[in-house]
Amino acid sequence: MDLRAKVALAPYTTFALGGPAALFLEAQAPGDIKEAYALAKQKGLPVVVLGGGSNVVVPDEGLNALVLRITTQGIGREGSTLRCAAGEPLLGLVKYAAGQGLGGLEPLAGIPGTVGGAVRGNAGAFGVEIKDVLVSARALDTETGEEKVFAKSECDFSYRSSFFKRHPQLIVLEAELALAPADPMQADAKIMHTLAERHKRHIQDIRSAGSFFKNPVVSVDLQKLFKQDKSQESKEGRVPAGWLMDRAGLRGARVGGAVASEYHTNYFLNAGDATAAQVKELAALAKEKVFKEFGVTLEEEAVIL
Ligand SMILES: Cc1cc2nc3c(=O)[nH]c(=O)nc-3n(C[C@H](O)[C@H](O)[C@H](O)COP(=O)(O)OP(=O)(O)OC[C@H]3O[C@@H](n4cnc5c(N)ncnc54)[C@H](O)[C@@H]3O)c2cc1C
Repeated sequence: MDLRAKVALAPYTTFALGGPAALFLEAQAPGDIKEAYALAKQKGLPVVVLGGGSNVVVPDEGLNALVLRITTQGIGREGSTLRCAAGEPLLGLVKYAAGQGLGGLEPLAGIPGTVGGAVRGNAGAFGVEIKDVLVSARALDTETGEEKVFAKSECDFSYRSSFFKRHPQLIVLEAELALAPADPMQADAKIMHTLAERHKRHIQDIRSAGSFFKNPVVSVDLQKLFKQDKSQESKEGRVPAGWLMDRAGLRGARVGGAVASEYHTNYFLNAGDATAAQVKELAALAKEKVFKEFGVTLEEEAVIL
């Protein structure tokens, strides 16, 4: 394994900001993960796991840790089931499935990051979440060194959450997905449509960590106001954090180089020279304004490392 010291982390994140890692390793095989944990123990450093770096904010001072980037690869097919290594880019999996004549993942096209990161956060878009097609996930318990296959029911998925998110000692190694037969051309067309839609909404190829806050559960009155305003039903009592932020006057709000997007207020952008401190300040401002206006406490979806 190629252990490196003082490695700049910004290039490994979609936000493109933050300082260096004391130590940095890429895990290309599951065995590398165990070795990395043993090494970190020897060095007296914590391990910070990174997938595609699309949902994280790295602090400006960097991380006094061994940063372990999961880059394990491999997708296998058995009938209409795919097994995919955690380090595979999600878009690669979606395209592979389409090419194999297997559908169901197309609405997830364009969500940046890895399959492992998507399982851990139950990534979703356009009404589909990865849990909808997941059969099981194999994970390594870094405290016991044991691997276990978690059936979908044990993954305890909910909105942008899973058992793995609540138990960070578990590293997702592999996902097993059950897909439906599909015409490859049609599946490909659906992928193109999803990507075009994401570009149209300005949530693609931007320097950001995606939605910064989770969509909160709100009072019935606030759900009604949302319905009146947007002619849309709230889902499971949740309204978009971006809508609350908009109404609290945060569209385009800026702290230094950190900007709440003009198109999608809940996406914070790095406008060129943002620092993690500025992102955190913008987040604090958003929380304060939304709480003052609606009495709602926003909770971060992005992981502040
Ligand atoms: C432009 C943009 C658009 C986005 N759009 C969407 C969207 O539409 N829907 C959506 O759900 N999300 C979206 N996101 C957020 C992000 O892409 C997802 O949360 C993604 O699934 C994160 O995966 P990752 O591999 O990049 O994780 P990272 O950002 O690298 O890590 C996030 C967390 O997961 C942990 N982690 C990573 N890999 C593993 C693993 N193998 N096992 C255990 N823990 C792990 C990390 O330790 C960290 O705590 C968007 C982000 C951006 C930048």
